[in-house]
Amino acid sequence: MVSLPYPPRSLYYDGKPQSANSGKSSQNIDPSTSLPIAEIHSASHSDVDAAVASATKAFPSWSQTPAIQRSRILLKAASILRERNDELAAIETKDTGKAFSETSAVDVVTGADVLEYFANLVGGGGLNGETIQLRPDAWAYTKKEALGACVGIGAWNYPIQIALWKSAPCLAAGNTMVYKPSEFTPLHSTLLAEIYTAAGVPPGVFNVVQGGGDVGAYLTSHPDVAKVSFTGQVSTGAKVAASAAGGMKYVTMELGGKSACVVLPDADIEQAVDGAMMANFYSSGQVCTNGTRVFVHESMKEKFEEVLLQRMQYIRPGDLMDMNTNFGPLVSKPHYEKVLSYMKHGIEEDKATLLYGGPGKPEWLASAKDEVKNGFWVQPTVFTNCKDSMRIVKEEIFGPVMSILPYKTVEEVVERANNTSLGLAAGVFTKDLNLAHKVVAQLQAGITWVNTWGESPAEMSVGGWKLSGVGVENGRRGIEAWVRNKSTLVEMSGEVPTVFAKL
Ligand code: NAD
Repeated sequence: MVSLPYPPRSLYYDGKPQSANSGKSSQNIDPSTSLPIAEIHSASHSDVDAAVASATKAFPSWSQTPAIQRSRILLKAASILRERNDELAAIETKDTGKAFSETSAVDVVTGADVLEYFANLVGGGGLNGETIQLRPDAWAYTKKEALGACVGIGAWNYPIQIALWKSAPCLAAGNTMVYKPSEFTPLHSTLLAEIYTAAGVPPGVFNVVQGGGDVGAYLTSHPDVAKVSFTGQVSTGAKVAASAAGGMKYVTMELGGKSACVVLPDADIEQAVDGAMMANFYSSGQVCTNGTRVFVHESMKEKFEEVLLQRMQYIRPGDLMDMNTNFGPLVSKPHYEKVLSYMKHGIEEDKATLLYGGPGKPEWLASAKDEVKNGFWVQPTVFTNCKDSMRIVKEEIFGPVMSILPYKTVEEVVERANNTSLGLAAGVFTKDLNLAHKVVAQLQAGITWVNTWGESPAEMSVGGWKLSGVGVENGRRGIEAWVRNKSTLVEMSGEVPTVFAKL
C-alpha cells in the first residue's frame, strides 16, 4: 500500500481520536496535483450517535463552568493556533489549493481572532442579561443560557476559519459541538480538536465526524441536537433548514451569493480595479462574498478595462508555497468542471464578450513541473458587455470569473444590483461619501463595503439577506445565535396577584 503524506482522518470525540466503524472511506486530493494526500474514514450513524452522545454528556458541566474560566481555556487555544500558524496554513494550502501567501496571512489568523474575540466577550460579561425593576417590590431579570449539543457543518473554501467561526461562539457561550467539515477539505478538523484538547477544553466539548451529505443530513435530524450552524450552498442550506425545522432546532445559515460591486461614476479607477480584482480573484474566486457582478458606469468602462487588463498580469499562479504565488487551482475535480462549464456557457450560450482568460488550459502549465499538470488549474477570466439575463451573471459560479456590466444612472444600478434572489454582500467605489452611504443604504445585502472589498474582522457581524442566509456570525450579535433567553419575574410584595380572592 502506498503511504500518503498525511495520516488518515477519522472521528474525534470523548477528547481523543476514534476510529469509524462504517468501513467507508475516501481519498482526500491535493487540488494542485490531483494526487491523494490522506485517507478519510466516513462516520456511520452509530459513530455520529457516539459523537453526539459525547457532546450531550459534556454539556452540563461545560455550560456551568464560569464564563471567565471557559474564556481562559479558549484564549489558550487561540494562542496555540497562532504559534502553529504556518504549519496549519501549509496543511490548508495542501487541502484547498490556496496559496500559502494567503493561508498563512488569513485563514488561521482570522479564525484565531474570532476565538479571541468571543473568549474575551464572554469573559468580560458579554453573556450577562438584563435586570428590570418593574415596581418597587418586583424585579424581572433575564439570562442568556447555552442551547446544548450543537452541530457545525462546514464548506470547503475556508475550512479552519469556518470551523473556528462556528466553534468559537458556540463553546464560549457554554455549548458543546459536533463538527463535520466538508468531505473535500477535512484535514484541519481533527487537528483543531487536538488543539482544543491541549488548551484544556474538556472531553466531549468539541467533537469531529467525517463524511459527506449523508452524514450531514443525519446530524441535522438528530433528536439530541439543539442547533445547526451551516455554511454551504443555498440548495443544501434549504435541506438543512427544513430538516432542522422538523425538530425545532435553532439554525444559522451562511449561504451563497452573487454580489454586486458598484463602481460609481466618480470612483478612483485604480482603487475600483483593485477592489474588483480582490472581489473576483482572491482565493481563485472561491469566496462567498465575491462581487462577481461588477457594475461600471459606461463613461469609465474603457479606462476601467484598460487598467484591469494591466492588473491581470499581476495574478501569479505557481508553486503554492512560494510567497510570490497569489493564485491557486480550484478545490476539486467536480468544482473545476463546474467552473469550466460556466466559462464555456458564457461564450457559447450567453454570448458575453470574453475580455481575458476563458476555459482553455492556463499557458504557464506548459512549462510547469509535471506533477502539477493534472491539477485543477483554470485561467482567471473576465467577461464584459454582460447582461443581467445571462446565466454567468445570475448564478453563483464560485470561481475566478468576473462579469462587467455597464450602466447609465445610479437609480438604474441600484435596481439592477438588487434584482437577484441572493443578498450576501455588496459594495460601492466612489470619492463621494454622501453618495456612498445613500447607495449602500439601498443595497439589499447583509455585508456591504465602501471603497474596499472582502475584509471580515471578528468585530463585524456578517450574514446574508434573502436566500443568502439566516442570522449572523461574529461581532456582538454573533454570540446571540448560541444562547436562548430565560426571563424570571420576582414578586417581593408578599402577595400573589390573583382574581380568586374572597369577596
Ligand atoms: P455544499 O452545500 O455542497 O456543502 C457544504 C456542507 O454541507 C458540506 O460539509 C457537505 O458535506 C454538507 N452537506 C451536503 N448535503 C447535506 C445535507 N443534505 N445535509 C447536511 N449537510 C449536507 O457547499 P460547498 O460546495 O462545500 O461550499 C460552497 C458554498 O458555500 C458556496 O455556495 C459558498 O457561497 C458558500 N459559502 C458561504 C459562506 C457564508 O459565510 N455565507 C462562506 C463560505 C462558503
